[in-house]
Amino acid sequence: METLYGYAGKLLRVDLSSGALTDEPIDPQTARKFVGGTGIGTKVLYDEVPPGVEWSDAENRLIIASGPLGGTSYHGSGTISVVSKGPLTNGSVATQANGFFGAFLRLSGYDGIILQGKARKWAYLYIHDEKAELRDASGLLGKDTVETREALKRELGHGDKQMSVVSIGPAGENLVKFAALVVDKGHVAAHNGAGAVMGSKKLKAIAVTRGKLRLPIKDRARVTAISDQLLENLIAAKDFRYTWGTLNAVCEHTLANDGFVPVKNYTTCIWDIERAELEKFSGWYVRSHFGQKPNACWACRHHHCHTITITEGPFKGYVGEEPEYECLAACGPVIGVTDVAAAIVLANLVDRLGMDVNEAGWVLGLAIELFDKKLLTMKETDGLQLTWGNYDAASKLLQNIAKREGFGDVLAEGAMRAAQRIGGEAPNMAIYSMKGATPKTHDHRNRWPKLLDTCVTQTATGEGYIMLKPADLGLAINPHEKHNNSGEDAVAWNAQCKGALHFEDCLGVCKWQSRADMVLLAEAVSAATGWDFSTAETMEVGKRIVHLLRVFNIRHGHTAEMDAPSPRYGSAPVDGPSQGKTIMDSWAELRSKYYEAMGWDSRTGKPLPETLRSAGLEYTIPELWGK
Ligand code: SF4
Repeated sequence: METLYGYAGKLLRVDLSSGALTDEPIDPQTARKFVGGTGIGTKVLYDEVPPGVEWSDAENRLIIASGPLGGTSYHGSGTISVVSKGPLTNGSVATQANGFFGAFLRLSGYDGIILQGKARKWAYLYIHDEKAELRDASGLLGKDTVETREALKRELGHGDKQMSVVSIGPAGENLVKFAALVVDKGHVAAHNGAGAVMGSKKLKAIAVTRGKLRLPIKDRARVTAISDQLLENLIAAKDFRYTWGTLNAVCEHTLANDGFVPVKNYTTCIWDIERAELEKFSGWYVRSHFGQKPNACWACRHHHCHTITITEGPFKGYVGEEPEYECLAACGPVIGVTDVAAAIVLANLVDRLGMDVNEAGWVLGLAIELFDKKLLTMKETDGLQLTWGNYDAASKLLQNIAKREGFGDVLAEGAMRAAQRIGGEAPNMAIYSMKGATPKTHDHRNRWPKLLDTCVTQTATGEGYIMLKPADLGLAINPHEKHNNSGEDAVAWNAQCKGALHFEDCLGVCKWQSRADMVLLAEAVSAATGWDFSTAETMEVGKRIVHLLRVFNIRHGHTAEMDAPSPRYGSAPVDGPSQGKTIMDSWAELRSKYYEAMGWDSRTGKPLPETLRSAGLEYTIPELWGK
């Protein structure tokens, strides 16, 4: 058989109902058309999950895949992409996590895993020495994601760098609708309840040892050289993420007063915090005052992920992972916590329980605002005094959510459904898109390109790409610019960059390293596979994925009306840089223009037959258009 360069060459299909494990070869045409990761996952999802299959049905699929750069010398190539039908939107999810899992999986002979069915008893999947087996997970039940990993290391006799673990925590076991998959230490495939899907299949964890396969890479030296070049570019650009990760953003944006950091569930855009306390929400403070140990992913040379030890105050001695921006914002300003150490401990708790920190922050923010406005009482909150900044109450409520206990059971449904259950003013106060998922922990009322992105997304989270160099794709605007409230910019940016992130998530690499440099990424794919892969092809693949996910979502009941923000999410801020302005004045027109720019029907958002044909997706036309 001819060598398929760039690929381990097979997918592992695991039927949890029957216990059957089968190897499936990767077809070269599919590889070229969908590349890997999110692309392959999207194809499997569309082909195998027809209308009528619900997120918790045995027939749903959970696909975990790397791509042609995974496990190579490319820096940060331990990444996985996770694709499924998720519970928050009842539509597709494509979410990714870094770490080691993708690299170890490929070096064990698999480009990805397709999970289907439901186990009768809780199980975990163990992949080692190019073999896979299902094992009893009853001893792991109730353990959080850190405990699960430690227990598996002990049980299987492997050290930190010899085995990688994807697991769910109590939240996934209890089908919390925003449960996540947690990888190694501090890497989370967070969106649209992928962890609840894994829980519904009664799969607690997947452990993979560091395989020994020599991957068939066409030009190894060129892959290394491109990765080195990307790193040099990053350093030359003085990108703060290289030095500090994303940690610095809470402090930087608040100091800039640009309205990006969400405060107290969007009740204000101004974080009223002492300057000395604010400066502690910075990479500089955390890294210079707290004990820190680098915890980089596979082959990564970024100064990004660290394990930290809190060295002062009531949390002195606590050891956890340094949070990303969203984690710190969700557990800080969104819920009124001004003590950085408390925010770090809460963020780590969310990861340990196995939940999406964005949705967790928004449901806590909603509950606290309702309590503050006396629309909830301690009787309804199980005795919790849900005041802004109350660490103890927030911590207890997060644990109740993960266990679905008391009021936690209501919030475990996610912001939209929880607000509907609470009733009254709650649906007008909660932050979500009408598809049913919450945005990232940003205040998009001051960044309209991101607001439109989050509402028209197919994956339950933003698909746009802030790090794209505008010149790469002929972009005229920078969506990250302060106070960007131009509707035209919002449409132009979204239509132009949709697909870039999906393409990158086909490759098995971390975005902080590649920063969507489509020219070098195309060259890296060519070097790994031996194909003549052009820069234009990167966006063709990315757009193909967006169109196919769109068709999948329409097939599962999504409508144009669901491409909209909740009343609070689309509201005019009461203060800050966009005070009094709302995108809702022109929402229907902007959405329509976006659909047109994507080659979709301007009213319904259905991809037009000619769009699907030119994307190589003609087989989807009869179901969508009936011809
Ligand atoms: S930049 Fe951070 S998340 Fe990405 S691979 Fe490196 S250490 Fe991991």
